[in-house]
Amino acid sequence: MSAECMTQPGKGQQQGDFYRPPLRLYIKVKGGALKAMSSTGGVWVLVEHRDEKLEDGSLELVGHGREVAGKTGQELSAVIFGEIPGELVTQLARHGASRVLCIRHPAAPERSVEIDTQLLAAAIEQHSPDMVLSLESITGADIARRLAARLGTGLVTACDRLDVGEDNLLAAVKPIYGSKASATIICPTSRPQMATVNPDAIDLKTPDTTASAEVVVLPVDIDLEDPGTKAVDLLRGDPRLVALVEAEIVVAGGIGLGSRENWKLVEELADAIGGSVAATRRAVDDEWITSDRQVGLTGKTVRPKLYIACGISGAIQHTMGMKDAKAIIAINTDREAPIFKMADVGVIGDVLKVLPVLTAKLREALKDKPGPGADAVFEALSNP
Ligand SMILES: Cc1cc2nc3c(=O)[nH]c(=O)nc-3n(C[C@H](O)[C@H](O)[C@H](O)COP(=O)(O)OP(=O)(O)OC[C@H]3O[C@@H](n4cnc5c(N)ncnc54)[C@H](O)[C@@H]3O)c2cc1C
Repeated sequence: MSAECMTQPGKGQQQGDFYRPPLRLYIKVKGGALKAMSSTGGVWVLVEHRDEKLEDGSLELVGHGREVAGKTGQELSAVIFGEIPGELVTQLARHGASRVLCIRHPAAPERSVEIDTQLLAAAIEQHSPDMVLSLESITGADIARRLAARLGTGLVTACDRLDVGEDNLLAAVKPIYGSKASATIICPTSRPQMATVNPDAIDLKTPDTTASAEVVVLPVDIDLEDPGTKAVDLLRGDPRLVALVEAEIVVAGGIGLGSRENWKLVEELADAIGGSVAATRRAVDDEWITSDRQVGLTGKTVRPKLYIACGISGAIQHTMGMKDAKAIIAINTDREAPIFKMADVGVIGDVLKVLPVLTAKLREALKDKPGPGADAVFEALSNP
């Protein structure tokens, strides 16, 4: 696979006293499989569901995929493995799916990303969709990479937006160089065109309550290859250690916590509200927490519904990784701290005093709500 790049001026952005030069990259991906060019069309969106609920971000992606499909004059199909409850079909239809394709193997093999990839690859070879989209979630990202390699086509990962460019090609837009620039990437020579989209990058569209979708079973009768791995058990993780990129609530601490002993205040708040714990680089450098929890330029990029910044100044290298949080609460003793410029709620105070009170109040308010979620926390905060 090769790439052609050219730079083009975009709109510059002012960030504090630091001017971010405008830069956008246009990249053309050349896939290897010209044989896969023929396509009978259609946009497929891979959808995961568990416990009768769609994975977060699925309806947003279906709605966005619907816009892309509409611009190219194609239909949008949501693709699932196995069975799907009727209620979820209704939700998918209302957000833009004309069809729900249920991929089934006659032997109903045990689910795994390896098996799902084989089944999806076979379904794609049989039905030749023009585009295949999925979330950049743990499972979606895993399947997409395996699938693109298996089909010999291009894949643009972790996009923030999808559009349609020249010749009705999918134009996938993703942040690059720590979000200092964005790249628009097309895949003109192989099919299907593939992209994964960051959960929470796209807003939910207003549902069309009159829409309905046809459910179509796609039997895939292939000899399955031995996946080489076997799922033994599913263990629910500690919410504080949930993968940061998927967390709905992030409680982050900085050097303002003062010491490793005080770090437990961040963990206690996260525990009380079902949040995931994160940190600035300075907290990581002082070994209060491991580097996989660092947010920022050289750490993770997160987009939670709620980000609580405790004793964090708001240095640009940190905020680059959390600026897209839907709501930010900052606690800092310094009223001039840059983090307050981006916070929705600012608490000017000592984290060592504020955190124990906040944790106790929220623990009490949420005691009957296990794994409460951001909406319950907002409600508890608005009823002091
Ligand atoms: C190339 C490069 C890459 C980097 N990558 C990253 C990155 O990925 N992520 C990252 O986070 N940083 C990164 N950094 C470091 C970054 O520049 C900052 O140094 C770091 O984010 C600051 O961390 P901090 O907010 O914990 O500390 P500080 O900037 O020192 O801020 C501490 C804050 O705590 C407040 N405070 C102090 N005591 C209290 C108290 N008792 N109660 C409440 N508030 C209090 C202070 O007022 C202050 O605002 C990078 C730097 C470079 C050069």
